[in-house]
Amino acid sequence: MHHKHLVCRVCGYLNENPPWGEDGKSPLFELCPCCGVEFGYEDATPQAVRAYRTKWLTNGAQWLIPERKPTDWDLEAQMAKIPEEYR
Ligand SMILES: [Zn+2]
Repeated sequence: MHHKHLVCRVCGYLNENPPWGEDGKSPLFELCPCCGVEFGYEDATPQAVRAYRTKWLTNGAQWLIPERKPTDWDLEAQMAKIPEEYR
């Protein structure tokens, strides 16, 4: 699967399962372990994605599940994976 379908639209986190399903139209309605966005709800449009991202970054880019945060986590590198249309 193309990695574009695995990354979180908001923060670029690489998920094990595609947040929006294999077809990109069947969201899981799960929360991103990194930014905490609910797939299929708060990331439904580019505008919503950008608004959530701004809020998340303003709050210090905290991880929803800190245990999942890599010790060498690089916010810039992760955000570079965000699909073009959601930047
Ligand atoms: Zn995320």
